Amino acid sequence: MARIVMKFGGTSVADLNRIHNVARHVKREVDAGHEVAVVVSAMSGKTNELVGWVENMPKVAGSNAPFYDAREYDAVVASGEQVTSGLLAIALQSMGINARSWQGWQLPVKTDNAHGAARILDIDGADIIRRMGEGQVAVVAGFQGLGPDNRVATLGRGGSDTSAVAIAAAVKADRCDIYTDVDGVYTTDPRIEPKARRLKKIAFEEMLEMASLGAKVLQVRSVELAMVHKVRTFVRSSFEDPDAPGMGDLLNPPGTLICDEDEIVEQEVVTGIAYAKDEAQISLRRLADRPGVSAAIFGPLAEAHINVDMIVQNISEDGSKTDMTFTVPSGDVNKALRVLSENKEKIGYDVAQSESGLVKVSVIGIGMRSHAGVAASAFRALAEKGINIKAITTSEIKISILIDGPYAELAVRTLHSAYGLDKS
Ligand code: ASP
Ligand code: MG
Repeated sequence: MARIVMKFGGTSVADLNRIHNVARHVKREVDAGHEVAVVVSAMSGKTNELVGWVENMPKVAGSNAPFYDAREYDAVVASGEQVTSGLLAIALQSMGINARSWQGWQLPVKTDNAHGAARILDIDGADIIRRMGEGQVAVVAGFQGLGPDNRVATLGRGGSDTSAVAIAAAVKADRCDIYTDVDGVYTTDPRIEPKARRLKKIAFEEMLEMASLGAKVLQVRSVELAMVHKVRTFVRSSFEDPDAPGMGDLLNPPGTLICDEDEIVEQEVVTGIAYAKDEAQISLRRLADRPGVSAAIFGPLAEAHINVDMIVQNISEDGSKTDMTFTVPSGDVNKALRVLSENKEKIGYDVAQSESGLVKVSVIGIGMRSHAGVAASAFRALAEKGINIKAITTSEIKISILIDGPYAELAVRTLHSAYGLDKS
């Protein structure tokens, strides 16, 4: 017998038939004798609709009132999950399963006060554990908790993944199954490379890189949390027949397991290729090479909430001048240039050059730590295709390469095959 948290995303609960199908997935695990808690998202599109209502409330002409009150935003947008948790509890009850819905405030899932983007501080799992022991299935509304002001707080878009992992950690679940509209995590985006393979396992750290680089399967924060609490997290599809052979397999259900690297016995050198579109590069030429220059550049950018990614600084030739290149999302490039020019005196550079429409392609794998020549193969493969590299950054488990936008798909496919990731 195992303790399993099952999370169902918006497309999995998009209508009553799908909610019924979700209930069959839950029933399968309950019938197998497992202790089960469920976390649900809102029906797909619902949260967008609710956010739209909040944002489009007509204002009194000439009013200077704030756009909207974040506590009331939360009161409105948290309602989507309230509906699906109740509906799923009803569907389960109709199948003879002892089930009860729970809103974030009822457990409670305690959060900080950052309404609209709250972080989970604490969940007392004792009550759910007790109820699971009595054979009851808790159906928990994801994406929400209770702030210190005693009001509903939501966790930021996509936050129900984080709710599920946090609840799995709180009840010490053996597994957290994230059911979604894809059947696992792939070596790269299958829409770009049809030869992409579904991974059986991926290490937390690798998934963190894949998730933050645009493989939008899971909210990044949920992966961080899973890594910290070592929650074995499974990505799998809710659209498969709940009773197909193997679906209830405890050790090897169909999908991708995100787990500690120790659990991955045969570690490949490279696990996947990720990409991030719409990057822009900014280069500051002939900067003074002295202490404080980087702080003078990146301090004001951070204050302007501009997310800086790759940073490359040259070693100066003669100790007096240097160049600095970094990337920002294309949408932020004009704002960044404005901030830089406002601070031009203080920073002390000659010219700022920029280019938009770039793509960052990344090669990811924990196996890189212990293998030489991994980066060299990427450079060789790209060179053979005539793809020019604009900037390179590396970490222990990742090589990121900045290239011109139109080459993105070719680069992803080239690297995918260069590291032997293509399915045969
Ligand atoms: N319903 C919320 C959203 O759309 C939370 C989630 O689905 O994870 O962002
Ligand atoms: Mg989601």
